[in-house]
Amino acid sequence: MGNVFHAESFSHSLNLSGHEQEAFRRQAEECRNALFGNKVFVRGVVEIANFCRENCGYCAMRRDNRGLNRYRLSVDDIYEELMAGLPECLTDLNLQAGEDPIAVREIAVPLLHRLKGSRLGLSVCLGTLRHEDYATLREAGADYYVLKVETGNAAHYRDVAAPGTLEERLAAIRHLAASGWKVSSGFILGLPGQTNEILKETIGLLEALPLVGCSVSPFIPGEDTRFPKHPAASLETTLNAVAGLRLLSPRRIIPAVSAMNLAGEGGYARALRAGANLATVNLTPESARPDYQIYRRDRAIMTGKRILQEIEKAGCEPSSVGLCDWLCARERGGSPV
Ligand code: SF4
Repeated sequence: MGNVFHAESFSHSLNLSGHEQEAFRRQAEECRNALFGNKVFVRGVVEIANFCRENCGYCAMRRDNRGLNRYRLSVDDIYEELMAGLPECLTDLNLQAGEDPIAVREIAVPLLHRLKGSRLGLSVCLGTLRHEDYATLREAGADYYVLKVETGNAAHYRDVAAPGTLEERLAAIRHLAASGWKVSSGFILGLPGQTNEILKETIGLLEALPLVGCSVSPFIPGEDTRFPKHPAASLETTLNAVAGLRLLSPRRIIPAVSAMNLAGEGGYARALRAGANLATVNLTPESARPDYQIYRRDRAIMTGKRILQEIEKAGCEPSSVGLCDWLCARERGGSPV
């Protein structure tokens, strides 16, 4: 299926409402169903540490936030908890942290080695690292890397103090993809300073990158960020953006992110209805969850049971084939569904 929608139309589609909006989202849902069936991949996430050497203006985990309790989980504790019982619908696992090379070396790598060979596909979201760190993570068993750009305009990227420079981030994405990783990126809708022009630039950039996945997260103002009073992105606009991403790049993996439930009632299931096809179960130990503050302290925590309810509400089913297995099968030209 070729592209049925163009990057230039993206900004316009964000403001659709009423019947036009309904038709647009239905088109995105049908597009997802044509390529993936009504199947939603279910991945677990463990937020292994919340130290971060970066200082992003929109994130409460930034290094200058001295009020946050910092933690690094123990490999044994995570492993035991995972082995004690995972939701059956879960096929993949993502290890996530702030940008913290110690957590990479001392938690992610040994944990991946232990999990390698299990039934789980392994993903990581660990920020921009040295090339040798990516190679070590891959060697340890991960093959899907989440590295978001957040904005595709270099000056805007600098203004909101996103990690390093946009140029470095893009170089990292291209390096990861060229060295065999499956890479997903994404952006924040409604980020302070975002104009229509910047949005257009961001979408054009994401479309051109070698990605297997792409996300949109609604901007949520966090108390301990530089933008506590900036308005949150509206749920309706965010859902239009999900549908736009699906129509722009039909073959990509598009997650429903937990912040959609913060952006508005029923946001998660409605994101799946608008063409998203990845859901995430939070497996971080309860004691650590309040300190993993990407947005606000009152996070929307998605448990396995809740995820299954949201998938059902959206008229979908959990995929029995894992995300990484599905992508590998597609690469080989097999029929993964
Ligand atoms: S967005 Fe990521 S890199 Fe930036 S401060 Fe937060 S955890 Fe660190």
